[in-house]
Amino acid sequence: MSKQPNWDLIAGIVLDAVGTLIKPVPSVADAYTEAARRQGVELNRDEVRARFNRHFQSDEVRGDRGIHSTDEATELWRWRRIITKVLPEIPDPQTTFAELWDHFGRPESWQCFPDVAPALRAIHEAGIAVCVGSNFDSRLRRVVMGLPDLSWAVDALVISSEVGFRKPHASFFEAVCQRLGLPAWQILCVGDDLENDVRGAMRAGLSALLLDRGAERPHDFPHVPDLTALLDSRLAEA
Ligand SMILES: [Mg+2]
Repeated sequence: MSKQPNWDLIAGIVLDAVGTLIKPVPSVADAYTEAARRQGVELNRDEVRARFNRHFQSDEVRGDRGIHSTDEATELWRWRRIITKVLPEIPDPQTTFAELWDHFGRPESWQCFPDVAPALRAIHEAGIAVCVGSNFDSRLRRVVMGLPDLSWAVDALVISSEVGFRKPHASFFEAVCQRLGLPAWQILCVGDDLENDVRGAMRAGLSALLLDRGAERPHDFPHVPDLTALLDSRLAEA
């Protein structure tokens, strides 16, 4: 299981979006706290952050075709559910939902991590195709296209709500292979979620590396501390 990727075989990389390529700025906790404040509700930001982490992680996505199946409507309802649970005090949840849905669909609400631009340049120079593969919904298209460090570099964008299945479902990774026009064994998946980006990808036959920014979690999976280290590991092998 803890095998390093064989770079001689890799012709495509699929990168997760949130936590891997992009992060929300201001933070999710700040955006939610501010949205509550606009309705006259003062909340502690740390409490909002704790609530979000709890409800985001415990929210199970189950569309019409079972666990991990999804579509745009399923994602919309999911976010409605999460926002209502995180901010139960607000008098007009519909307005807050609309504001936050719009906020996180704008490129200005996101930033690329500083290692993204140099890493994507190096990946392209190595002749490796780049796919962004994400459990975000179709709002991600506008976000990716609006971030200059990303837009030029992305050869394919695979989004779970458009594919019909979320990571870690095998159907999501089959869609990645199709879009890249490559077999699973020629694709490396890189992301910050052990189950979605690493275990799921490996079960589907892809190589995988965990992006462990800050190296905070003990594990025996192959991992890199940032995206530039990805190509360092390739050069070290060459
Ligand atoms: Mg992620």
